[in-house]
Amino acid sequence: MTTGDRFTGKQVLVTGGGSGIGLAIAQRFVDEGASVTITGRREETLRAAGLPYVVCDITNEQDRASLAAALPAVDVVVNNAGIFSDNWLENAGVHVDAPLALVRLYEDSLVQRGGSVINIASVGGLVAVPNAAAYSASKAALIMMTRSLAVDLGPRGVRVNAVSPGWVRTPMADDEMSVIMERVGVDLEGAYAVATKNLPLRRPSSPDEIAGVVAFLACADASFITGSNIVVDGGSLVVDVGMLAFE
Ligand code: NAD
Repeated sequence: MTTGDRFTGKQVLVTGGGSGIGLAIAQRFVDEGASVTITGRREETLRAAGLPYVVCDITNEQDRASLAAALPAVDVVVNNAGIFSDNWLENAGVHVDAPLALVRLYEDSLVQRGGSVINIASVGGLVAVPNAAAYSASKAALIMMTRSLAVDLGPRGVRVNAVSPGWVRTPMADDEMSVIMERVGVDLEGAYAVATKNLPLRRPSSPDEIAGVVAFLACADASFITGSNIVVDGGSLVVDVGMLAFE
């Protein structure tokens, strides 16, 4: 566990913070002194996380208004909530429309506090992967939106960055592994091994390994970084898949 005081006195919002990467991010900020509020749709999941929470479907305008009433000002917004769907409107709603609406909702306090926004995108927003056209296109839009918001908000002292994970062991990725489990006839562990066998680091990441990068982007050491997209993928994007035939 990493502890410290980099975020003492800071108020952090993490969407989708009841599970997976979002929970690890929330815990990391708490461990480093922040006051953290998590949001999600399922109250029992949020309660089990043991952190202050607001039940909020981020795609629902009324829910967002309730969130703003409960949490009027923040220093850091982490747009982490995500889904894996083959429906464009669903993906765009969660990965593009809602993060933009949340930035608008908290824009004034982010400006007043010299805050920062971190959007959790995906390597799927940078390179094409099978059977994920709607998901990937929405994550690509989130990466571009990160750059646009960095341009708009930078002059007012707000930094906006993205983090693009490769495979991370979470409930969402566990679900996606079922395709490999069925096709190859392996268990969950075996499916992750198949999915990561061509990565330079030969394994999926833990949610904590993503959380550490998010915390870095939010902290003072990253004070000159904005509009960036940090890829945290065990090296998957540097591999020329055609050349693997020579391994
Ligand atoms: P997860 O399913 O554990 O977490 C996603 C969370 O978002 C859940 O708690 C879910 O309830 C919440 N959520 C979804 N729709 C919501 C909505 N409308 N309102 C509020 N909350 C909502 O999955 P995860 O792997 O931790 O995913 C976190 C983020 O990381 C997502 O944006 C995902 O696309 C991204 N990501 C994950 C991986 C991976 O391998 N796990 C890889 C690349 C990117």
